[in-house]
Amino acid sequence: MRTPLIAGNWKMNGSVERIRAFGEAFAKAEFAAALDIAVIPPFPYLEAARHAFSGTPLTLGAQTLNPQPAGAHTGEVNAAMLAEFGVTYVLVGHSERRQCYGETNEDAYQRVRAALDAGLVPVLCVGETLAERNAGATRDVVLGQVAAVMQRLNADQRERLVIAYEPVWAIGTGLTATPEEAQATMGEIRAYLVTLDNALAETLRLLYGGSMKASNAAELLAQPDIDGGLVGGASLQIDDFFAICQSA
Ligand code: 13P
Repeated sequence: MRTPLIAGNWKMNGSVERIRAFGEAFAKAEFAAALDIAVIPPFPYLEAARHAFSGTPLTLGAQTLNPQPAGAHTGEVNAAMLAEFGVTYVLVGHSERRQCYGETNEDAYQRVRAALDAGLVPVLCVGETLAERNAGATRDVVLGQVAAVMQRLNADQRERLVIAYEPVWAIGTGLTATPEEAQATMGEIRAYLVTLDNALAETLRLLYGGSMKASNAAELLAQPDIDGGLVGGASLQIDDFFAICQSA
């Protein structure tokens, strides 16, 4: 009942040519089952993507937003601008934003709220570091990050969210959580959602991210609480990304 979502986070990679090639490749794509697909390129490529992806199953995502209204914030892009442009999804709380740009759970909440208020779908990213995992703190860290946002949303807001579990030690390292490891933590997230609302827990999509690739996507996506993927490196290659979409 949950439509899978495969989202390609290009991070600070890509080119107009790559956007064009993805549009061309996916124009002919057919998938057996219902599937949502998003490509999340850097801001300057959104315009090219809007053209190249028209008539394809690819939808648009943005990698971050500034939660404030329009004003004197040089270099920033806010939720209303992304919504006006036609972006569907926006990443919030990615571990690279948390680690490199100091974004906190409070920042994640503000960004989720701004995204929801503008009609965007926030993809809230959560995940533990290797040190936290080794200290046995995975559950506390991950549920803490989820709850810091969920507790402050009302029922209507909660149901418009997507949550991506990305263990930090698996991002860009080639180390993937085993399907069982990913399922264990994502099952905990689902169990937490049940404590908020049964219907919410049934419908909210949970994505796995962290070295997902064509060769491991199927077994990850076969887990009961994995409803899709947030794909980094492998989303830059058409064949790999296409194969991951087919696995869903
Ligand atoms: P990799 O797939 O390159 O590990 O990146 C995952 C990620 O951070 C997606 O947001």
